[in-house]
Amino acid sequence: MKWCQQCVLPDTRPHLHLDTGGVCNACRAHATKPAIDWAARAARLQEVVELAKRQASAHGYDCLIPVSGGKDSTWQTAQCLDLGLRPLAMTWKTPGRTEIGRRNLEALIALGVDHIDWQISPKVETRFMVKAFERFGSTAIPMHLALFNMPLTLAVRFQIPLVVWGENSAFEYGAVDEAHTGFRLDAEWLRTYGVTHGTTAADWVDEELLAKDLAGYFGPTAEELTAVDVRAIFLGYYLSWDPQETRRVAEAHGFCADARGPRTGYYAFADIDDDFISLHHWMKWYKFGFTRLFDNLSLEIRHGRLTRVQAIEIIRQTGDQTPHEDIDKFCAFAGIARKRFFEIAEQFRNREIWRRRIDGVWTLPEFLIEDWRWS
Ligand SMILES: [Zn+2]
Repeated sequence: MKWCQQCVLPDTRPHLHLDTGGVCNACRAHATKPAIDWAARAARLQEVVELAKRQASAHGYDCLIPVSGGKDSTWQTAQCLDLGLRPLAMTWKTPGRTEIGRRNLEALIALGVDHIDWQISPKVETRFMVKAFERFGSTAIPMHLALFNMPLTLAVRFQIPLVVWGENSAFEYGAVDEAHTGFRLDAEWLRTYGVTHGTTAADWVDEELLAKDLAGYFGPTAEELTAVDVRAIFLGYYLSWDPQETRRVAEAHGFCADARGPRTGYYAFADIDDDFISLHHWMKWYKFGFTRLFDNLSLEIRHGRLTRVQAIEIIRQTGDQTPHEDIDKFCAFAGIARKRFFEIAEQFRNREIWRRRIDGVWTLPEFLIEDWRWS
């Protein structure tokens, strides 16, 4: 386990690599941002917008915006409206939607967009989540399949030429190769960065989960996408994406952060719309030896708002952030015992980085902080 010398991420993070100078590709990618010609990118965005308006039918939507109720959703919607687009917003309705997430979503709709809430049957979703947790140690595979496929399905059905995403996580958290920092979200991007462990809905069909049960998770075929000529873009490619800046814009448009502080990680304005997202982030501790906090703090370091030393001190004071409350809620939702949850989680502890001490306590010998209190 090696740690980036500039941020606080280890090389165990998927798609993250350290160069010979000990600096990760996400930090290197961030350093290229000032050199990016943002005016040229904004001009290209204008071209994409004009094309979408020409392609959309006279009585159809210009673009589709996948939204959750998070700050990026409000930012995306405000930007699309400013660009003069007529959007349809859609949401995969998480079974863990929070009250603050619901309120933020309503404020977003009130900006002046039509909206569709798409919810999967809880019977299907719980079965799928537990299966995904057992097979890959990830409760979030159904979520990611829904998030990426539902908008494309609706775009095809409603003949909407453009799907507008927010940040390109592949750029912010790792990949620097041009093919993925560009502007198309295609099948290859989904397979590589879609956090579905390379699976599609078809891979989950069995006696318990029939193909028809999983209808919402199947996206359109490549032929269908081509026939309607649906393009997917990341707004973060055209407009410099910074979580604090998107928060500022979102708050100016009715978004509210969580007054109680961060639920997981460093931000009180992120990961607050879904009770179950923390479980997805928390499994990184078992699999890769870091938590959501490390992701967030690394962004703050890159934007020059924290030093690496300050970030390490925050990690030391915060601890591992085991989301006990959310784990209880998930267990109640999924109908499994808390003990069973931890048994499954334990199976995904990465033995290449974790060592069991003589007293039975698991430790990371190559952890970022030497005097960490392991429990
Ligand atoms: Zn780094």
